[in-house]
Amino acid sequence: MSVLVVGSVALDTITTPFGKAKDILGGSATFSAVSASVFTPVDLVAVVGRDFPKKYINLLKNKGIDLTGLKKEKGKTFRWEGEYGWDFSNPKTIATDLNVFGKFDPIIPKAYRKNKIVFLANIDPEIQEKVLNQVDKPKIVACDTMNYWIETKRNQLLKLLKRVDICLVNEAEAKELVGETNLVKAGKKILKLGPPIVIIKKGEHGVLMFSQKHIFATPAYLLESVYDPTGAGDTFAGGFIGYLAKVKKYNQKSLREAVVYGSIMATFAVEDFSLRKLQKITAVDVRRRLNKFKKLTNF
Ligand code: AMP
Repeated sequence: MSVLVVGSVALDTITTPFGKAKDILGGSATFSAVSASVFTPVDLVAVVGRDFPKKYINLLKNKGIDLTGLKKEKGKTFRWEGEYGWDFSNPKTIATDLNVFGKFDPIIPKAYRKNKIVFLANIDPEIQEKVLNQVDKPKIVACDTMNYWIETKRNQLLKLLKRVDICLVNEAEAKELVGETNLVKAGKKILKLGPPIVIIKKGEHGVLMFSQKHIFATPAYLLESVYDPTGAGDTFAGGFIGYLAKVKKYNQKSLREAVVYGSIMATFAVEDFSLRKLQKITAVDVRRRLNKFKKLTNF
């Protein structure tokens, strides 16, 4: 079963205590789509400018991602600049230049509309909703967002949350979204905004998943070398949604498994800048790391 992914395809400038990289491949849809492609075929909807390097298009093509929905418009590609201190949990946004995303009006290719699983990766909630309006009865709609949209497009985001099945946010976003300092309370409050499943990503501290009846908690796989946390959340989401598409089951068991697969995928994203490591990951690498994770958490 394929998945439809919409979000940003970006050129990022990232500073970490280990160094700085300029105009490297990034974007919420990029990380999500590449991650999901390890499990299932992916249809991508996004926009880039004329300055978007061909080598990055080839990278996406080589992962088998369908690019019919990737538009190339006059203007510059979306750019994000972020800086991490020694605490890798929250980047400081230095600049967000929407560029071609500022006027993006997505038209979903006909062949994409029948997708049963739709992932609205982090991008303007109005664009997320425009995509949702064009698909035929998807079974699962998941969405991500970030502080930028919580602060600048709160009402549009709240409207969108009423229409999704799964909301994925990180710890800081969860707290900001509902004005809460306790994560358990925040998870429950987000459930009340509409989505039946709420996933809160806690970086190196793991993940929480909330529904009316259950709370699931898992630690993260232990990594010793983290170079660039950019895209971890998006990579998690791609692995999560890709796994659900692969197993074609939507219940508490498959959701819990998907959370673990998503977490494993995220570990590959942070071990190098941009998608340098993630792009090389295969199902065999995922299986190996999953087995180590099982040993780590078994008791
Ligand atoms: P993550 O680290 O998983 O939260 O996502 C990082 C990615 O999100 C980067 O590669 C950025 O290009 C992208 N990004 C940053 N700000 C925004 C924004 N306001 N809208 C859409 N994508 C963004």
